[in-house]
Amino acid sequence: FKEERLQKVIAQSGVTSRRKAEQLIEAGRVKVNGEVRNELGTKVTEKDAIEVDGVPIKKEKKVYYLVYKPRGVISSVKDDKNRRVVTEIIPDRDQRIYPVGRLDYDTSGLMLLTNDGELAQLLMHPSHQIDKVYVAKVEGMPTKEIVKKLKKGIQSEGELLKALKVRVLSSDRDKNTAVIELTLHEGKNRQVRRMLEGVKLPVAKLKRERYGFLDLKGLSSGDYRKLTPQEVHLLK
Ligand code: URA
Repeated sequence: FKEERLQKVIAQSGVTSRRKAEQLIEAGRVKVNGEVRNELGTKVTEKDAIEVDGVPIKKEKKVYYLVYKPRGVISSVKDDKNRRVVTEIIPDRDQRIYPVGRLDYDTSGLMLLTNDGELAQLLMHPSHQIDKVYVAKVEGMPTKEIVKKLKKGIQSEGELLKALKVRVLSSDRDKNTAVIELTLHEGKNRQVRRMLEGVKLPVAKLKRERYGFLDLKGLSSGDYRKLTPQEVHLLK
């Protein structure tokens, strides 16, 4: 559980501003786990029960969004070059939400955004093997040998990068391009691009179509929707 300053947690719960929260703490009107805490340095976590004037504060409501990230958007909460970031796709949010994992700036497709840090950690952990399905448009012709290689694993920068499944969806001999679907368990940095570079099929376009049982049905690039409670339950 992440530690946060008591005044910040009170302010985030919507009771009052951070300044006022500090005053409440110093006035001895705030209890943590039943005891008055009047120092501003106090750190608390989600597990602590916080009361203001004897009234428990509301925990931050958990929110879960599925976003169809367009190309040319940073999958982060901030960008030092001021480019558009993926969290801006969700309007009117009171909570701080952040992306589960990353997609490259030039990659489009499915991302999850949430303020549920625990679920995010769980989903990003390598032991949590979720199928991620990518569709790549490449330059070159994928042969049977290449497909085999991608499944066996490609050595890249000291890592073995593997695809669980590989399907050639189409190929155009005249234009020397093809569309390949790759299913991965891991989500290593630039994994699909590195794998396809490793077999001399540079990626022209990349999209994440699926994340576990979630797909982009009904959404266009730049759209988002809330996950249903059922979907959230299934992810956990
Ligand atoms: N693999 C990549 O190369 N890029 C992504 O954005 C996601 C997977």
